Amino acid sequence: MWMDLVGHDAVADRFRHILAEGRLASTYLFVGPGGVGKRQFARRLAECLFCPNTADEELAACGQCASCQLMAAGNHPDLLEVTLKKDKRALQIDQFVGDGEHRNREGLCHDISMRPALSNRRVAVIDHADTFNVNTANALLKTLEEPPPRSLIILIGTSESRQLPTIRSRAQIMRFAPLGASEMASLLVEKGMVGNSSIATRVAELADGSLDQAQAMATDELWEVHTEAVSVLNKPVIDSVHLGKIVHQFAESAGKEASAKRDALIAVLSLVARHYRRSLRADPASPEIPRILARIDRCLDAEYQVDRNVHLQTVIQSWADDLARS
Ligand SMILES: [Zn+2]
Repeated sequence: MWMDLVGHDAVADRFRHILAEGRLASTYLFVGPGGVGKRQFARRLAECLFCPNTADEELAACGQCASCQLMAAGNHPDLLEVTLKKDKRALQIDQFVGDGEHRNREGLCHDISMRPALSNRRVAVIDHADTFNVNTANALLKTLEEPPPRSLIILIGTSESRQLPTIRSRAQIMRFAPLGASEMASLLVEKGMVGNSSIATRVAELADGSLDQAQAMATDELWEVHTEAVSVLNKPVIDSVHLGKIVHQFAESAGKEASAKRDALIAVLSLVARHYRRSLRADPASPEIPRILARIDRCLDAEYQVDRNVHLQTVIQSWADDLARS
């Protein structure tokens, strides 16, 4: 296991190889499901490149020097991290080129052009690259095209297709695989996200290799409503009124804000859809397949309606009635 990171030895090997040949590019785009450890990997890579006691191609860090200690404390001056600002759903242009008053004198493009403070290079890690809009991406473009010497930019997104062509074409792509179910189950227990290993195994099987998904699922309340909903759905005759009631109560308990209720409802719907997808995988020859596919579709329709602000109780009850009828 490279640098205590589960599941990404293959990517570490590629970087080792690239560094041994002196072919490190100036910009990389890490893609893969949320929560598999791409940002952690980027930080670990920076730590190795910063550490003066190890050669780059070793892809290792001594853990003792001032640089390694600053990395461990989370405040190395040559690591520049950009993520979503609080309450924003997309990266903002001023994060790259400064706001109106400080245009081109602040922001990532300015900071990365400065001489390294401690190490012999600067590393920028830009999270949520999926959210770049054209203007913000254009603000970064010059830096990508003419990267400052000894700088490394790592963009983190979920899939290649969600990136703007201007960014995608200027970055080397590194793909991160989803975590395996058993790797994830032990991680969930290790991180204290799930109390017992039998729930961890079930959560891991449903999480599609993403720790973010697993974390969202692993709240006790959501897991309880999911377990209860699935037990209703597994009965030969589905009690749609009871099903609607437990899901509605869960959504209502998520908070006063309509958005919190909607998020809670989407979490249940997507968990139920995952439950059905998993049963498809478990028995691909089952005579129940048309019914299961119809139910997955019905969950997706309901998620779509929630997104479109259809009245929640209406969405829930018609979803429960349709599942009961299918
Ligand atoms: Zn070190």
